[in-house]
Amino acid sequence: MQAQIIAVGSELLTPARLDTNSLFLTERLGRRGVDVVRKVVVGDDEARIAREVRRAREEARLVIVTGGLGPTLDDLSRDGVAEALGKPLIEHPEILEWIAERFARHGRKMTDNNRRQALILEGAEILANPNGTAPGQYYRDEAGIVILLPGPPRELRPMFLNECEPRLDLLPSPLRYYTASLRIAGMGESDVDQRIGPIYSAEPRAVTTILAAPGEIQLHVRGQAATEEEARAIADAVAEKVAAELGDRVYTRVNEPIEQVIGDLLRSRGLQLGLAESCTGGLLAEKITEIPGSSDYFAGGFVSYSERAKIEWLGVSAATIAEYGAVSEECAREMAERARDHAGGAGKAVGVSVTGFAGPEGGTEAAPVGTIFIGLADGGETVVRKLSLGKERDRNRELSARSALDLLRRRLLGL
Ligand code: ATP
Repeated sequence: MQAQIIAVGSELLTPARLDTNSLFLTERLGRRGVDVVRKVVVGDDEARIAREVRRAREEARLVIVTGGLGPTLDDLSRDGVAEALGKPLIEHPEILEWIAERFARHGRKMTDNNRRQALILEGAEILANPNGTAPGQYYRDEAGIVILLPGPPRELRPMFLNECEPRLDLLPSPLRYYTASLRIAGMGESDVDQRIGPIYSAEPRAVTTILAAPGEIQLHVRGQAATEEEARAIADAVAEKVAAELGDRVYTRVNEPIEQVIGDLLRSRGLQLGLAESCTGGLLAEKITEIPGSSDYFAGGFVSYSERAKIEWLGVSAATIAEYGAVSEECAREMAERARDHAGGAGKAVGVSVTGFAGPEGGTEAAPVGTIFIGLADGGETVVRKLSLGKERDRNRELSARSALDLLRRRLLGL
C-alpha cells in the first residue's frame, strides 16, 4: 500500500517549526510495508487543504492529515477534509460532553470554540485522545482511508500507535513484513556498504536501508512474504549474514542505542563509570545519562575544559601538561586514570577521557585541528586511541563521543 502525508499548519512553513510528525509516521508505516510516496506541508487554509486531500486520494490508498484539529478558527483540517470528501461534519454529543468534562477536571470552563473539536466527519470513526482535547478521525470508503491526527507529537504518536495501527492491522494485505535491524559502530558508510552490498542485493525479497550518522550506522532489512514467519525468516537470514561479515562491529541486533549496550555491560560487571571530558564538553555524559537507570553505573564526570580544571579538579599532573600539552596521549591517559580513581578506583571503575582540538580554529603543529585523544583506564593497561578528524567542530565532537563509547564497549567485551 502507498500513503501520503499532509502536514497542516502555517507555522510549519516558517523557520520556527519543523514537520517531525511525518518522520515518525513514515517510520511506523515503513515497518508494515506501507511506502510514503509523497508528503506536503500546507498552511491553515481550507481550500488548500481540500485540494491536497483530493489530490492525495487520487494517488494513494492511505492519506494522513496531521495538525489543525484544535479549537481555534485557524484549525481547518476537519473542514478541508470534509470539503474534499463531500461529507458533512456532525457534532458528536458524547465528545462534546467528554471535552466539557476534561475542562471541568482542570477547573476551567469550556469556551464555545471548543465545540469545533466535537465535529466529526459523517461516517468516520473517532480516535481517542487521552493526551489532549481534539479526537482523531478515521474515515474509510472505496477510494481508501483518510486519517486525521492532532499536531502535537505527544498526542499524535500514542494515537497512531494505539488507535490507528490496530485498524491498519485489520486491512486485507497480500503481503506481510518484518524488519530486522542492526547497528554498527566504528565503520564508515561506504566501507559497510562495500562489504555487505553483495549480501543484501542477493535477496530480492528484502529491502535494505542503510542510515548513516557520524560514528554510527543503522541497517534495516525489511523482509516481505505471504506470512509473517516467512518475512521474518528472510530478514533474519540477511541480518545473520551481515552480522557474520561485520563481526564485532555490530553492537546490537535488537536496535538498541550503544549507550544502552554499554550500560548493560557495566551493570552486569558491577563497574562504575567515570568521565573526564575536555573537547566534548559533557556530550559523553549527556549520552550516557540518556538511558533511564544510568545512575546504577554512572558515577559522574568532569568537564575539565581548562588546564586548571584538568590539574586542580581532576588531578592530572601539571608536569604532564607542561611537557606534552593538554591535547596529548599522555594527558588523555592521566585524565582517564584520574576519572577512574574518582569513580571508585581500579577493579571497581572504568575511566574514559576525551581531549582534543575540535576546531574550526586552533591546534598546534604537533596536534592540528581534528586531533583527538580518547583514553580508557580500568584495572588493566590504560589505552589511548588517537583520532585525526577534519575541521568541523560539531562533527568532531560527535565522532569523538561515539568513538569513546565504542572503545568502552570493546574493552568491556574484552575485544
Ligand atoms: P491543538 O489542539 O494543540 O491546537 P492541533 O491538532 O490543532 O492541536 P496544531 O495547532 O496544528 O495542532 O499544532 C499544535 C502544535 O503541534 C504546533 O505548535 C507544533 O508545535 C506541533 N505540530 C503540529 N504539526 C506538527 C508536525 N507536523 N510536526 C511536529 N510538530 C507539529
